Amino acid sequence: LGGSISLALRQMNDATIFDQKVLNECLNNIARALLQADVQFKLVSDMLTNIKQIVNLDDIAAGHNKRKIIQQAIFKELCKILDPGKPSFTLMKGKPSVVMFVGLQGSGKTTTCTKYAYYHHKKGWKPALVCADTFRAGAFDQLKQNATKAKIPFYGSYTESDPVRIAVEGVERFKKENCDLIIVDTSGRHKQEAALFEEMRQVSEATKPDLVIFVMDSSIGQAAFDQAQAFKQSVSVGAVIVTKMDGHAKGGGALSAVAATKSPVIFIGTGEHMNEFEVFDAKPFVSRLLGMGDWSGFMDKINEAVPIDQQPKYHEKLKEGKFTLRIMFEFVQNILQMGPIGQFLSNIPGFNEELMPKGNEKETQAKRQRYMTMMDSMTNEELDSCDPKIINESRIMRIARGSGRNLREVMEMLEEYKRIAKMLSNISALTGLTRNLSAQA
Ligand code: GDP
Ligand code: MG
Repeated sequence: LGGSISLALRQMNDATIFDQKVLNECLNNIARALLQADVQFKLVSDMLTNIKQIVNLDDIAAGHNKRKIIQQAIFKELCKILDPGKPSFTLMKGKPSVVMFVGLQGSGKTTTCTKYAYYHHKKGWKPALVCADTFRAGAFDQLKQNATKAKIPFYGSYTESDPVRIAVEGVERFKKENCDLIIVDTSGRHKQEAALFEEMRQVSEATKPDLVIFVMDSSIGQAAFDQAQAFKQSVSVGAVIVTKMDGHAKGGGALSAVAATKSPVIFIGTGEHMNEFEVFDAKPFVSRLLGMGDWSGFMDKINEAVPIDQQPKYHEKLKEGKFTLRIMFEFVQNILQMGPIGQFLSNIPGFNEELMPKGNEKETQAKRQRYMTMMDSMTNEELDSCDPKIINESRIMRIARGSGRNLREVMEMLEEYKRIAKMLSNISALTGLTRNLSAQA
């Protein structure tokens, strides 16, 4: 998406005569890019209508930065869609709040319930989990396992088949235990069946939740709007959590979910683990969606930095969202030798802080040196793997010994590697880097 939108904007900038026709052409290209990113058709067309009203052709023709004007207008419009203008629910100390999770089977409810509980637990709340999914075999075991790992109290049953009864019992129990955040996990079905919605309604009526959270898998694409709307029509959804943003989803579905439920996205799920959970923030999300960190510029820089025969290898790897330790090694070796690289890295959301701590050239130099020595002590298999788990404790010790560094430093580097790898895969998924690269290949 980022690629297509940047391209549309660049083409517009190149046009010497800027008239209604060029503007329309540009907006059509942007519309296509947004549709490809799974933004719902109606949202796209409404947005373009708004933009046409906002953008003043005379201003643009008068030599102002056209690209910037249009980009800002799109940015604002997308942020506006993501902000339904309704304050999201706030928990209160000393009062037990009930939060019910709904969504299709496999959307990530059970996983997200625990993440949500764990997040609030860390913030000093007293959460508890209730498993009202009696439909899926093993549902209670899954919740129990997650809850135990997060040290969150839980309630459920292997024998009771009535979800309403379990929900009510669980909520009552945790109210007595003075929990201030009681989370009810419900069942899902593969499809939006009447039985699922009826069950949801009953659980909702019986437990009177303060907030109903709709959990949506980000990869469902254009189906997002209808799905979210169907849930909203059955229970009073008040917030949305979008899961699996670490995959190859394009993110546009989040906009549809907000539009359909008139509720804000409050968190996004970025992995299977408990802490892979982020508070949702519209501005950076839209920046990434629009590819404002200019990826084509980034790829140009890579092409400048690495020898021509190695370029296809980079492209291939990054295209698959694979960022290996060897690539990081080469980044450090090649790219960071290029001088004021921070300038262009700073255009890429999230990248600048990772390899270029601000302002401290000396520390960066030392860190670079440290990384090179440590990576020198790794095996080829380790350098070429995308799974840092193959580097176990004994290997970390060997690497530390081999490079004369300490364990903490090796672990720190691996953590940094993981952060960058994850960020790159998120961004590449969101901005359609893949498409960009395939187009180049
Ligand atoms: P439920 O049926 O709605 O309760 O969904 P689950 O919580 O059981 O999740 C279904 C699958 O999605 C599981 O394998 C989870 O590990 C996985 N999952 C959930 N959230 C995320 C996420 O944010 N990222 C990734 N990669 N996987 C997720
Ligand atoms: Mg579940």
